Amino acid sequence: MNRPVASLSLDLDNRWAYLRAAGRDDWTKRPSYLPMAVDRIVDVLGELNLPLTVFLVGRDLTDEADCDAIRRFDSIHWEPANHSLNHLPWMHTMPPDQIEEEIATTEKRIINLLGIRPYGFRGPGFSCPPEVLNVLQERGYLYDASSFPTSVAPIARWFFMLKTGLKGQQKDKAKQLYGGFGSMLKPNRPHRLQNSAPEFWEIPVSVMPLTRLPIHMSYLCYLASFSVTAAKMYFSSVVRLATLTGTPISLLLHPPDFFGHEDADDLSYLPGMSMARDDKIRFVRWALESLKGRFEVRRMINQLHSLAPETVSAITQADLKQHKSSEFHSPVPDRVVDAATTP
Ligand SMILES: [Zn+2]
Repeated sequence: MNRPVASLSLDLDNRWAYLRAAGRDDWTKRPSYLPMAVDRIVDVLGELNLPLTVFLVGRDLTDEADCDAIRRFDSIHWEPANHSLNHLPWMHTMPPDQIEEEIATTEKRIINLLGIRPYGFRGPGFSCPPEVLNVLQERGYLYDASSFPTSVAPIARWFFMLKTGLKGQQKDKAKQLYGGFGSMLKPNRPHRLQNSAPEFWEIPVSVMPLTRLPIHMSYLCYLASFSVTAAKMYFSSVVRLATLTGTPISLLLHPPDFFGHEDADDLSYLPGMSMARDDKIRFVRWALESLKGRFEVRRMINQLHSLAPETVSAITQADLKQHKSSEFHSPVPDRVVDAATTP
């Protein structure tokens, strides 16, 4: 019997983005942990022979050491995708030309660095308003992955606002973070967006079937920081329930899922960062193996291919076999935008 399809993705949020979210002024020096993060992630996924879709932030695609690190994803089966230029979690407040810049500049930098165009997008802070979806469809994207249909978005947002050092206008803008109350009514499975021509799909960040509780790896690590046994029971029940209900899981990873308290003092405020590195990576490896035990784990573009074979094949056929194919380069936008957008 064919196993159900799941996908694995990583938001490659950098140290500076976390420091900015915490309201720390030193984020402006753009501290990076990408070389360390990519090495750890590639080690674990390579060992488990798992594929990955990586949402890249355009701002990190100019530094030489960061670019070298990102190229090391080539040692696993991966797909680059677009996570905006400046990782500002309030795209819903931006004027149309800034939205276009956020998407187009990152797209161009991905093409320059990797020789392939991205087909997927995830908005920072799970924000993806209709204006963004329009730009994505105009630019030939096939899917958005920003929807986070959890029952705890309002609680998560409240917790973020409590912990964050953001002030004034930025704090106001962050109020839509993790989506509004309506996000919990959205589907918890990939679906074609209505009236999209050509086909355009939403692949949500999966939540637990029925309860809509979060299941992304940082949440699992947060539970594991209290009790690894409880976190394992929780994720085992997620996998069972997803199998029973036929829910195609799309599991989300972040770099801190591969860091322990030894690695990043300045990120100690993040949930799950009290764990020791080895314990955390052991737990993450266990969770990924559990997923692999029940599901056929793919990149998001391949998950989409299983749902809409004709749409994906028409555009990316060779690309699905080997991601570095010059046939699938999109024309680089004429307008090279490198806006030094303020945070
Ligand atoms: Zn992000």
